[in-house]
Amino acid sequence: MLVDGFQRRITYLRLSVTDRCDLRCAYCMPREMTFLPRRELLTLEELHRLALAFMARGVRKIRITGGEPLVRRDLMDLVRSLGRAVGSGLDELTMTTNGTQLAAHADALAAAGVRRINVSLDTLDCARFAELTGADRLPQVLEGVAAAREAGLAVKINVVALRDGLPELSDLIAWAHGQGHQVTLIEVMPLGEIAQPRTEQFVPLSEVRRELEQRWTLLPSTHRTGGPARYFDVAETGGRLGFITPLSDNFCAGCNRLRVTATGQLHPCLGAAEAIDLRAALRSDEPDTALSHALDQAMRVKPERHSFAIAQGAGPAVERHMSVTGG
Ligand code: SAM
Ligand code: SF4
Repeated sequence: MLVDGFQRRITYLRLSVTDRCDLRCAYCMPREMTFLPRRELLTLEELHRLALAFMARGVRKIRITGGEPLVRRDLMDLVRSLGRAVGSGLDELTMTTNGTQLAAHADALAAAGVRRINVSLDTLDCARFAELTGADRLPQVLEGVAAAREAGLAVKINVVALRDGLPELSDLIAWAHGQGHQVTLIEVMPLGEIAQPRTEQFVPLSEVRRELEQRWTLLPSTHRTGGPARYFDVAETGGRLGFITPLSDNFCAGCNRLRVTATGQLHPCLGAAEAIDLRAALRSDEPDTALSHALDQAMRVKPERHSFAIAQGAGPAVERHMSVTGG
């Protein structure tokens, strides 16, 4: 089993399959972002083998992420192989996607054993979407969300709370709840250099909550998933709203996850520099032993908590963008 130095049991892996993306969300990466040469990425077979090594040590849930996972060609082969473990080894296989290519893949995801996905969507306004992401693709994302619903996937809409997005938030939540989708709001984190100062983007969720309470009754919910979100039921919509507050209300004490990049770097903490090279372990003479030792090392070095700060003059907590670590 994987238990770290603070007695936290690790059961959840976020596995990045690419650092590439077809969008350039302003809070995630700069417009001129450069990506790794493809030859540096792990092959799909290596990603599968890694996933098995984590499962052998007690990981029960895997989220495929990126970058944008659905831009990786042949990704569905990996999803299908991992999907076969759902119910025997894995409790759940999920994905986080920006939704631009979801319409083409929703049925295949459901057939492979995926039951729930997170779709990141910060606005329903075409012009704002294009400005925020650098691409005019809101209609494709909405088609993707609709296709996922039709395929029987439960969709959670992830929204990064941004200061200039505040006026639209309640309409976005009303739309999502109207479609039967849960919404999770996330505070923006200082990961990697971007064009805009983080201080201009950041809004604490306590403020968002006050704003939403002008319109709605938010009832604290006892619902828990083992993750960092705290939930409210919105009386007027009947929908559920999650709050993830890495900055304003630290939740690291309950951390149960590890992240692996598309090149096989294991990051025990999203907000810390530590990295363990699983690609080297995978390609060594005795990969099983080397991987098991690498996971033991991860348990020794996983920090107690991140130290994110968003303030004038404070730089990024780590140089890696979220798209590199795997969101
Ligand atoms: N491309 C996919 C997507 O957007 O859903 C998966 C990868 S993306 C890095 C995963 C999640 O990280 C998204 O929900 C995105 O909104 C969020 N994210 C990216 N940069 C962030 C930041 N600096 N702070 C908080 N959330 C961030
Ligand atoms: Fe791409 Fe996701 Fe980052 Fe947006 S948040 S740029 S969709 S990786």
